[in-house]
Amino acid sequence: MVFHGPGDLRREELPVPVPAQGELVMRIDAALTCGTDVKTLRRGHPVMIPKVPTVFGHEFAGTVTALGAGVKGLREGDRVVAANSAPCAACPSCRAGRPNLCEDLLFVNGAYGEYIALPSRLVSRNVVPLAASLPAERAAFAEPLACALLAIERVKVEPGQTVVVFGHGPLGCLLGMLAASRQARVVMVGKSGWRFDRLKHLGFATWLDATSAGNAVEAIRDATGGRGAEVSVDATGRPEVWEQAVDAVARGGSVLFFGGCAPGTTIRLDTRRTHYEELTLLGAFHHTPEMIRRAVEILASGVLVPDSLISHRMPLDEVGQALALMAKGEALKVLIRA
Ligand SMILES: [Zn+2]
Ligand SMILES: [Zn+2]
Repeated sequence: MVFHGPGDLRREELPVPVPAQGELVMRIDAALTCGTDVKTLRRGHPVMIPKVPTVFGHEFAGTVTALGAGVKGLREGDRVVAANSAPCAACPSCRAGRPNLCEDLLFVNGAYGEYIALPSRLVSRNVVPLAASLPAERAAFAEPLACALLAIERVKVEPGQTVVVFGHGPLGCLLGMLAASRQARVVMVGKSGWRFDRLKHLGFATWLDATSAGNAVEAIRDATGGRGAEVSVDATGRPEVWEQAVDAVARGGSVLFFGGCAPGTTIRLDTRRTHYEELTLLGAFHHTPEMIRRAVEILASGVLVPDSLISHRMPLDEVGQALALMAKGEALKVLIRA
């Protein structure tokens, strides 16, 4: 599936790629749709898609089918997951140990296809072999899970804490599942409807329906003896919810801004609380090679099983319909198989 610009996704026959030096070609065994793809299809993406036309889709797992000269540590037939980016390892952010903020992050697209060629920088830094027991459709969650993991590491969730997550899309759920796996008490805030009902059985401590709870912040304070949550996470990318996330956090607590808002938006901030209650306000963006590896370990260990976030399974020809379902809020993640 080739992206030609906003609203223009085309099915095209392309030759199976041949790997150059340091490159690798893999057959895609499973790909997942992502809200980012929906946004990109609507308005393009300046960072992930610097030029068009381009192959499309960025969450995938598969099998190595061809290796270029000089690739070490991988063989034809290996089952692998690849991240959708690779840091440069040379810029100030990379050297400071924050490769998710790399100033020259190399992005790769093409999950919605039969084969994908991976550039040498990605092959050497961000391709992870899979245990035989880890199915491709679970391994394909490595990229979104790595983003959630980076975020949760930034706030240092501890056992017994209350963690409130605003937003019950797939990433909100992954954030909640990670917090729950660290023995936090997780409160999920979402809007009633089929997604809410479907995800209730994920086993979080509390679900708050933001449409009927009236003031979600008050409901969270009621549920925490008036204190608020030690950790408050926005996974909606809406400025008004960022404000609620700050309002819902306890003294000394941490707020994680996970959902990216539209450019140019701002929020109001209570300076008195932020100072005298020592609030920690943190952004979290993307992932690192270390988080990709740890996400694969978490998926392989069964500590976190993401299967229930797949609401539909569709063939490659129907990627357009799959993204349309996502855009209408009628799908969580769609598993695409060639
Ligand atoms: Zn994604
Ligand atoms: Zn860099």
